[in-house]
Amino acid sequence: MIKLLLLWSTPVFADPQRPDTLVLPSGEEIELPYIRNWTSPEAAKSLRWPACQGSSSAMTGPTAITLHEVGAPHDNFNDPTGKNRCIHFYVRQDGVILQLAPLDRTWGHAPNSGHAIGVEIANGYGGLNFSFSSGADRIAVSWSGTRYLYWQTPPQFDNLYDLMMKLAEIDFNGDGVADIPKNVANERMVEDYFLLSTQGLRINPAVDGWLNSYEGIVSHSIHAYADEVLVEDGNGGLTRTYPSARNDGGAMALYTTLRLRGLSADEARCYTMQIAQDKLLTDPSVVAAVGIASQDFGYHTWKSIPLNVAEQPCVTELGP
Ligand SMILES: [Zn+2]
Repeated sequence: MIKLLLLWSTPVFADPQRPDTLVLPSGEEIELPYIRNWTSPEAAKSLRWPACQGSSSAMTGPTAITLHEVGAPHDNFNDPTGKNRCIHFYVRQDGVILQLAPLDRTWGHAPNSGHAIGVEIANGYGGLNFSFSSGADRIAVSWSGTRYLYWQTPPQFDNLYDLMMKLAEIDFNGDGVADIPKNVANERMVEDYFLLSTQGLRINPAVDGWLNSYEGIVSHSIHAYADEVLVEDGNGGLTRTYPSARNDGGAMALYTTLRLRGLSADEARCYTMQIAQDKLLTDPSVVAAVGIASQDFGYHTWKSIPLNVAEQPCVTELGP
């Protein structure tokens, strides 16, 4: 076990490979220390399916960012239906972010793909689809049927947040206004709370429709099963426990929420992990004691916890 207080540094790995620029639809390039665009050798060899530039549609906006995490045991990018699935950014475990596709084109990765930039965060179980994904940190959780979640590295959290904040300041369509709001869907459903779990309950399709048109940052973990019935604990919200112990963007959504509320990078990483490891979700009386917000969106109750966590000390453990 590794004890983590607030000591993690945020390295950006030096890499001589170029070009290290974010490419915008306008053709403008923004130099960022952690990014490699699709013309770099790293990006070209990072995919194990045909390159994104096969068939796609014109992007609307983009007005949203959808966060994913690789790790499904099945090859979800080698879709037998022939859909051309791809994503715009792939976040390696060393924090290098590969831009794999132009931002004015769409590829299927979520119900909101028509207006959303797609991001895949690497963990150790994306090897079927991606290179640069081997071995992963895990954290123990008591409320998930899988007992643990794959966890992302500090440079993954910090560099992706930095990239998203830069994307959120870009005027993609040239109307003089930035197009991606600095909002996180998980905290917009119930004011002042972050949706941590649906406790395995189905998400109301009406909410799914809201999610599909949402403008801002949304995790696939609350999107993916909006129209399916699953009974696994912890499904939806912070994590998506089926078909693997991946959170599918939920942890990054929580981290982003905490950063937007003023926490430092170190604090946000620590409290994101602490919240994910909390046992609150399994004990209704404890949930009530911290001020549970229960709101019926039609036929089930959402559960979430308040975000004033920084008033408590943060101690977390990486493992098992
Ligand atoms: Zn996903």
